[in-house]
Amino acid sequence: MSKQQTPMIKQYLKIKADYKDAFLFFRLGDFYELFFEDAIKAAKELEITLTARGKGEDRIPMCGVPYHACSGYINQLIEKGYKVAICEQTEDPATAKGVVKREVVQLITPGTVMDGTTIHEKENNYLLALFEEDGHFGLSAADLTTGEIRVTKLDESIEDVIQEAAAYTPKEIVVSKAFSDEYRTSIQQVLNVTFSEEEAASLPKEMIELVKNLDEHLEKTTVTLLLNYLYLTKKRSLDHLQPATFYYSKDYMKLDVHSKRNLELIETIREKKKYGSLLWLLDHTVTAMGGRLLKQWIERPLLDPKKIQDRLGMVEILMDRFFEREELKENLRQVYDLERLSGKVAFGNANARDFIQLKKSLERVPSIFETVNRLEYPYSDRLMENVDRCTDLQKLLEDSLLDEPAVSITEGGMIRDGFNSKLDEYRDAMKNGKSWIAALEQKERAATGIKSLKIGFNKVFGYYIEVTRSNVPSLPEGRYERKQTLSNAERFITPELKEKESLILEAEEKSGKLEHELFLQLREDVKVYIGKLQKLAKVISTFDVLQSFAEVSEDNQFTKPYINEDRSVSIKDGRHPVVEKMIDQGDYVPNDILLDPSSEMLLITGPNMAGKSTYMRQLALCSVMMQVGCYVPASEASIPIFDQIFTRIGAADDLAQGQSTFMVEMMETKHAVSKATHNSLILLDEIGRGTSTYDGMALAQAIMEYIHDEIGAKTLFSTHYHELTALESDLAKLKNVHVSAAEENGEVVFLHKVIDGSADRSYGIYVAQLAELPKPLIERAKVILDKLENNSKEEVKVPVTQGVLEESYQEVEREREPGQLALFDDTVYGQQKQSSPALSKKEKSVLKELQSMDLLHITPFEAIQSIHKLQQKLKK
Ligand code: ADP
Repeated sequence: MSKQQTPMIKQYLKIKADYKDAFLFFRLGDFYELFFEDAIKAAKELEITLTARGKGEDRIPMCGVPYHACSGYINQLIEKGYKVAICEQTEDPATAKGVVKREVVQLITPGTVMDGTTIHEKENNYLLALFEEDGHFGLSAADLTTGEIRVTKLDESIEDVIQEAAAYTPKEIVVSKAFSDEYRTSIQQVLNVTFSEEEAASLPKEMIELVKNLDEHLEKTTVTLLLNYLYLTKKRSLDHLQPATFYYSKDYMKLDVHSKRNLELIETIREKKKYGSLLWLLDHTVTAMGGRLLKQWIERPLLDPKKIQDRLGMVEILMDRFFEREELKENLRQVYDLERLSGKVAFGNANARDFIQLKKSLERVPSIFETVNRLEYPYSDRLMENVDRCTDLQKLLEDSLLDEPAVSITEGGMIRDGFNSKLDEYRDAMKNGKSWIAALEQKERAATGIKSLKIGFNKVFGYYIEVTRSNVPSLPEGRYERKQTLSNAERFITPELKEKESLILEAEEKSGKLEHELFLQLREDVKVYIGKLQKLAKVISTFDVLQSFAEVSEDNQFTKPYINEDRSVSIKDGRHPVVEKMIDQGDYVPNDILLDPSSEMLLITGPNMAGKSTYMRQLALCSVMMQVGCYVPASEASIPIFDQIFTRIGAADDLAQGQSTFMVEMMETKHAVSKATHNSLILLDEIGRGTSTYDGMALAQAIMEYIHDEIGAKTLFSTHYHELTALESDLAKLKNVHVSAAEENGEVVFLHKVIDGSADRSYGIYVAQLAELPKPLIERAKVILDKLENNSKEEVKVPVTQGVLEESYQEVEREREPGQLALFDDTVYGQQKQSSPALSKKEKSVLKELQSMDLLHITPFEAIQSIHKLQQKLKK
């Protein structure tokens, strides 16, 4: 770079030094220009032309975007996770001496953007702050568009902090400089966020109120960090920020990132779309605020049965009272986004149209409250208590604004007649002047006899009298003063006309100015109501979510669940609500789920595509739905409150993230077994599939035993390791179930029916047979299978090097009754301890008969009879 920098470039560099991590949009006339590295990078990201400023050695890379079209470009950069510093001219170039003064007036970042494409109306846009002190973490989240601030304290590992942070789907996290790099890396691995640094220095005076409620130093510091960042980036009024509220993360069901993804609560795994998720199914909200609250609720199901009952009870009433529900919905439909409108007011970019939305929304409030009042439900009555309906504000807006005001706030056309006497005076002057002009037109037509004479107006010449060329000769000489000649007409003025014109224009200018002032005052008046509007918004959005639950529950024949305290699950005719919705009506096969003290774990077998994972998810979704306060897809349901749900369900995106599927499987399993309590729900789908058969089988069994003995969590475990079904006799609380399939007209039909017992193991060959593979091939496969099954016990040796598994299996051995068949032959787990005694002819024939039994086509009773026969044979 040359030393010959122009003063302007020097100014640029000085400002840029304070905004190293942002694109500096430097205002030059009608453009925002970017220079140096910023220009090269922005030209690439925004696909705009890279040019240069200066010549030869002094050439500086440069690119620019027009001022009036900048928002699109800014949005593109923000969406990609960048920050943009807006640098404006802060003095009038006409009067400036030397280089015009410039300053950054706003830093726009992914977590602090107020509008644009990154903001979705039914989603919050959270900015997070994390602060660590002596191994404790403070986590605070703010949505700048709604003004909400939350804070919690976490005494756990960084993994737990990440899980908590993930519930906010943040795009940006503020940390102090001292925040460890290791933590930052761990966070980046799970969440795609932009990090920003700030220090928790003392707060500006007007923000002190916001942390006053907080007792502990850690929480205060975390919120201070967040607020400082907001203050320094936004550089303007943030009056809509609400005092930070503290919450305990332990008050909510814990759902880690994987489980939320696997259960497709918010978006689908493959497409990452709302369509097809639980949120999509439950979202019949009619306001944007309701949509956001619903998402928050699904992210954090409740644990307190009383609070869940409150919601369920309200859903019940709304289902019973159809007319009230319809009335409520109709009124809610006309309520605009009060939270974001408040944000706009505080931020200073609300216009008169926004206020009309506000007014229309407030008009609905009395009816909404009146309808809900009629429900006579204590919970909703409590919600409405002490909530200001903002009728004064509604009246103020009604009195002050026209029904369809102008968008611009500087050109008038917003304020109603009668609101301000001075404004009325100006308007009268304008009106009188205009009617005088209209009368003049009539008068002059009569006087001159020229019927086509007209009076017009344009910005350059003001009012004029226009006479077509052919009529000009008939004008009395000297009647008008010529002003402009057009090809087919002449334009004239008169001193009288000009006099009226200046009166009108002056009145217009003054009234425009006055309207602007009145509007700014109105904005200040509305600001006072921000806190009240936000409280009102909370209540309204709660009603919206609950009416949505009622509607979805009715449309889909959901049932009110009973929250039991005996830790048992009893679901009759349960369905997976989303799968049910996606397939043809009536095609879904409902299934019962029973988990009681004797069957806390279900081992689910069945062919691929039979419906195992659908069955497992069904339970998790029912629990989440109940704990957010919605009815559940079943004909009867009694469910305990689960403190956490863990899932390991094969996810398609593991590989995309560059992790080995098996490693992910094990990490998720570790997470489940190390965190679950006996009040948790664990879903493990095909654990151990990602490694070699015996390795996987050993792990699967060990995991089941560990959960069974050490944790006691309710567990659904699906597997294709048929051998594991023998565990039922060793693990008291384990029960085998399987998803049935059948043959119909030569085709395999998945019945999707879950029934007791385990599935037929040679199902693969059966399917091959149905697919009409050559007969000799099928026969050969049967022989090989037979051989494999018999030989496996002798041939396959999987060494166990670490003592753990070996020890536990030795324990199993010790506990096994004499004469009881080992689940796996000892060789499976390592050294051959003793050779199995050879089978007698009788035993072999019993085994053969057992193997040839067609379990798919017999009833349980027939099966019992056959087993009885086999037993008799052995006893003979
Ligand atoms: P698995 O886990 O056994 O491989 P899935 O649970 O993935 O099978 O189910 C496969 C497909 O079968 C699902 O996508 C769904 O379309 C259908 N299905 C599953 N359960 C049912 C059911 N109870 N009723 C109707 N269709 C079902």
